[in-house]
Amino acid sequence: KQLTSAEVRQMYLDFFKSKGHSVEPSASLVPVDDPTLLWINSGVATLKKYFDGSIVPENPRITNAQKSIRTNDIENVGRTARHHTMFEMLGNFSIGDYFKKEAIHWAWEFLTSPEWIGFDPEKLYVTVYPKDTEAKRIWLEEVGLPADHVVEVEDNFWDIGAGPSGPDSEIFYDRGEEFNDLAADDPENYPGGENERYLEIWNLVFSEFNHKPDDTYEPLPHKNIDTGMGLERMVSIIQDAPTNFETDLFLPIIHAIEEISGAVKYGASPVTDVSFKVIADHIRALSFAIGDGALPSNEGRGYVLRRLLRRAVMHGQKLQIQDSFLYKLVPVVGKIMESYYPEVLEKQAFIEKVIRTEEERFHETINEGLAILDQVIVQVKADNNDTLNGKDIFKLYDTYGFPVELTEEIAEEAGLKVDHAGFEKEMDAQRERARAARSNEVSMGEQSALLTDIKVDSQYVGYERLQAESELLV
Ligand code: ATP
Ligand code: MG
Ligand code: MG
Ligand code: MG
Repeated sequence: KQLTSAEVRQMYLDFFKSKGHSVEPSASLVPVDDPTLLWINSGVATLKKYFDGSIVPENPRITNAQKSIRTNDIENVGRTARHHTMFEMLGNFSIGDYFKKEAIHWAWEFLTSPEWIGFDPEKLYVTVYPKDTEAKRIWLEEVGLPADHVVEVEDNFWDIGAGPSGPDSEIFYDRGEEFNDLAADDPENYPGGENERYLEIWNLVFSEFNHKPDDTYEPLPHKNIDTGMGLERMVSIIQDAPTNFETDLFLPIIHAIEEISGAVKYGASPVTDVSFKVIADHIRALSFAIGDGALPSNEGRGYVLRRLLRRAVMHGQKLQIQDSFLYKLVPVVGKIMESYYPEVLEKQAFIEKVIRTEEERFHETINEGLAILDQVIVQVKADNNDTLNGKDIFKLYDTYGFPVELTEEIAEEAGLKVDHAGFEKEMDAQRERARAARSNEVSMGEQSALLTDIKVDSQYVGYERLQAESELLV
């Protein structure tokens, strides 16, 4: 019998409970007292208070299942098998207690013991930092992995430029040759690379150095362990699903979308499948984030939500869904997640109302954009031009939130060519402005101790906001 997602989550927590860990409940997606973060984006993000010593935990061994949002992966959603905006990270943590040896042995035991997950050890590969001979030795000599299952990767060092840092070791599952998506000689085609065959499931971070301002590293007096496992990816393997979406975490949402569409079935074509996946992903992020108190708006977190909702609506149109529909998916999400996260069903009416209102407003925006686009098209023709220029496409996108694809489709239907390269140029200029602002943010950030004491990966507020603005293409 296949494990359900709820069973896998519980099994992880039970395993680490059996190793002396205390279970910490999932915290809100909206960071509390932490101006450096736009969203909670990992299990460790909510435990910062213990890692920086501001609070001493009753038990230095902690485990959790933490809902997380990463906007940096938005472009990947629906296109890779494995990326979400909102996902759950399962983690075990040592605050100056156990270290590398235990972290590695326990990870292996959990994954391969028939009493727990029971994966075939031959399917598992690990990466290590080349200079971390200790981790390599443990994997080879103590765990007994064959040499070709331990891969040295130069990037396996977690470091944000200051504060605690150290090597990490990641665990990959070989899904088999049929998932090969890269050419044999592609540099990413190896266990540890960016590919669909070797699925990254778990990251073990060994935080053992203090990166000092003079760019030297000294050993930390108390070494820490921080790990993160992606629940959706684990479940995809366990439930033998080709992507994270064909699991009990997403299929009920996809079926509900099929029913609303009436016209398009999941599996009908790769293009419409992306739309199903994007909608299923985004409605989870929206439901949870709104349940945790974030609201759609024009800046920061709210802007991320607005963009997620608009993307989902546009993908709905590709499935021939014309009316507001996202709000109808909220109870489906709530039901799937109920056992560990009752909050969505508890706040269902409120979440539905926020989403529905925002959807209806977006439909109005689309109508306004359509009116403006009509005028522009008339003008282009009156000027005896045959092309809608990139600046106009960009303006509709940037000022009115009008989706680029839609602009181009309508212009082409009206017999015009579209200057897509010109639009891309405008986008590049905007990204450049964002990058410039971002590098300011980061160098400011590095001077603040608050920002430097914890794993941060694309989490400065300004960075996230600007990144969201430049990359959340509808
Ligand atoms: P990837 O390389 O696949 O983008 P990552 O190296 O950025 O993942 P980590 O920061 O190491 O991810 O996070 C720990 C674990 O969390 C990953 O091994 C993966 O299982 C899971 N994870 C990370 N990002 C996502 C995401 N966007 N969607 C689903 N799971 C994720
Ligand atoms: Mg990533
Ligand atoms: Mg990775
Ligand atoms: Mg990783």
